[in-house]
Amino acid sequence: MKAMVLQRHGELLTLMERPDPQPSTAEVRVKVAACGVCRTDLHVVDGELPVHKLPIIPGHEIVARIDLVGREVKGLQPGMRVGIPWLGYTCGKCRYCAENRENLCDRPLFTGYTRDGGYATHVVADARYVFPLADSGDDVATAPLLCAGLIGWRSLRLAGDGRRIGLYGFGAAAHIIAQVARWQGRDVFAFTKPDDVAGQAFARKLGAGWAGGSDDAPPVELDCAIIFAPVGALVPLALKAVRKGGRVVCAGIHMSDIPAFPYRLLWEERQVLSVANLTRDDGIEFFGIASQAGIVTETVSYPLARANDALLDLRTGRLQGAAVLVP
Ligand SMILES: [Zn+2]
Ligand SMILES: [Zn+2]
Repeated sequence: MKAMVLQRHGELLTLMERPDPQPSTAEVRVKVAACGVCRTDLHVVDGELPVHKLPIIPGHEIVARIDLVGREVKGLQPGMRVGIPWLGYTCGKCRYCAENRENLCDRPLFTGYTRDGGYATHVVADARYVFPLADSGDDVATAPLLCAGLIGWRSLRLAGDGRRIGLYGFGAAAHIIAQVARWQGRDVFAFTKPDDVAGQAFARKLGAGWAGGSDDAPPVELDCAIIFAPVGALVPLALKAVRKGGRVVCAGIHMSDIPAFPYRLLWEERQVLSVANLTRDDGIEFFGIASQAGIVTETVSYPLARANDALLDLRTGRLQGAAVLVP
């Protein structure tokens, strides 16, 4: 198989030829059709997350067809169209697994971080964490749903059901979740980098009733906000924008430090919380919602060998919507 491999943090990925991976009895092997590029991949490449495995093949928004099935796998057959997300394994035994919060498992594996992911022609995955997808459908358009959509959905649920919702950072996740929020009948307020006029126009096109810079005050008080950008300074800004009792959800796996802020921004029962990972139930729920809401993703495709360009475009904010690699 071919893969784009991270050998050392901070270096470019290298295109490598590797032996085809073989699934164990509980795994499947898939042929990758498309793999989305998530901001988490940048954090992995940059070494901003604790190091577990190097070299590593990044990528956890995988749309694929099964080509080999382990002996003990049930319900999955060669040729099936499937999605492989960030959550690659949970222990099933720790207190979080027992409490039905497998997203917080003590001994998890994550696709493209602690096990090899989808920047490749083939991937092996634990069959229990693979989502069957509708047989038809655009592979590139579907890929961003596997993380941007899923984590976005979990964030939206945790934000509560307030009508006026602020989205800070209008990238892959926000462009999907804005559509879901509109479908739910909410009013979307989009916050981009202060001078990102194109990003603000993009947000309005996707249903945001108001779009402005992250340092702008929204025209009305918000009920809740989700911060997708990895920028800690947005936390006090978002707290300032939400009403009494309002909630601010931090959706990313990594964020720069949150600056000190006056207690009065948190006072009056405002809440700040983070969202970590996903559960398999989130995935099942979200794929149902995604088809009902008629989500249309905006994507930019790159050949697998150009993964470094895709990462650079994400890093520099040159992208609108989501980058997707096609092997
Ligand atoms: Zn566990
Ligand atoms: Zn992701």
